[in-house]
Amino acid sequence: MNRLSINPDYCKGCLICVDACPGKAIGASDRVNPKGYTLPAERDMQQCNGCKLCEIVCPDFAIAVEIEEEKS
Ligand code: SF4
Ligand code: SF4
Repeated sequence: MNRLSINPDYCKGCLICVDACPGKAIGASDRVNPKGYTLPAERDMQQCNGCKLCEIVCPDFAIAVEIEEEKS
């Protein structure tokens, strides 16, 4: 399954990534970073299609999706 990676130091809690996710694979978490910004987190990564829209729209390069290698 694909995995979400967040850099909490870069994230400003705008949650644009969550809005951009077509599969609702990620959502707002109950974690905040040291600045008090709400961090996104995995919600249902079964729904992640690997589109990387979350990465593309993040203004702060705070989020990345690691795509699981296809098993042959
Ligand atoms: S990861 Fe990026 S787009 Fe998502 S909440 Fe943090 S700053 Fe905003
Ligand atoms: S890669 Fe696409 S489907 Fe997966 S979490 Fe990011 S926006 Fe959602």
